[in-house]
Amino acid sequence: MSVSGRTTVVGLIGYPVAHSLSPAMHNAAAADLGLDLVYVPFATPPGGLASAVRGLAALGVRGVNITIPHKQAALPYLDRVEPAALACGAVNTIVFERPAPTAVQAAGYNTDWSGFAADLVALGVPVQDRDCLVLGAGGSARAVVYALLRSGGRVHVLARRPQQAEQLLADLQPRIDIGRARPHDLRRLGDLRPSAPLIVNTTPLGMSPDVARSPWPDALPLPAGAFVYDLIYNPTTTRLMAQAQAQGRPAVNGMGMLLRQGALAFELWTGARPNLDVMRRALGPSIA
Ligand code: NAP
Repeated sequence: MSVSGRTTVVGLIGYPVAHSLSPAMHNAAAADLGLDLVYVPFATPPGGLASAVRGLAALGVRGVNITIPHKQAALPYLDRVEPAALACGAVNTIVFERPAPTAVQAAGYNTDWSGFAADLVALGVPVQDRDCLVLGAGGSARAVVYALLRSGGRVHVLARRPQQAEQLLADLQPRIDIGRARPHDLRRLGDLRPSAPLIVNTTPLGMSPDVARSPWPDALPLPAGAFVYDLIYNPTTTRLMAQAQAQGRPAVNGMGMLLRQGALAFELWTGARPNLDVMRRALGPSIA
């Protein structure tokens, strides 16, 4: 890849960013399309967020992804935030729009929810009128619950601190109808009697290096007809996925969501649709 004065710069702000898979994924997509574009990780400690957003705008950067710990904190520094990102309470993508050479507008988007929703569609997993159990109520759960409600699911949010699940739904309420969503204590998982549920793990339980952990108790059979979606993608087969597969229930990891949120961000910056297989291959060797 050669960089010139005409090269479009996009990137990632987060802290840390050294282990991010996004540069490999985006740079491969740009090369495949023959675009003169480079994706650069910018390590941005918490106190530096405001000046980073201003500085990237001033430097002519086209856009950035935003990751931990800035996804929520970035909202006040943007000129415009799309309604879905406001609902999720987080942005993972900024586009620096330049309506005139001297004018820059920072627009915030959330492609986590839409990447998750698009992956379910691609997998052929129905959501409409389906019981959906969302395990965990943190940042990614907001995007997942929003996507499931938009797709017409009956959503149960299960958190070890039930008030976190209640708060998640209270925060979504002004932006989407939460009439089909309920908060629960994760310890009462066994009391629910869902029919053929979609089970989505949004907790970090099972993520490398703690690969032996699972949010689903061994003693509790996975319901008939269940489909398991684990947001974790490292390892590629999590303990929860192995539990599901041992009981004949289909299960996928979060690689599809990761790819699709990236592809949607790439499209926002470039207007071009990247090749998902190219992006997937670029991730391959990086994942244990
Ligand atoms: P987060 O904001 O920290 O939320 C994690 C949630 O899990 C919280 O509700 C937390 O509860 C709960 N939790 C943590 N440890 C738990 C335990 N031992 N037992 C029960 N609940 C527990 O994290 P996040 O950003 O949502 O990320 C969660 C996972 O999703 C990570 O593994 C991340 O890599 C993955 N993810 C994947 C994608 C993708 O594209 N595939 C995108 C985003 C995130 P407390 O607040 O009580 O700790």
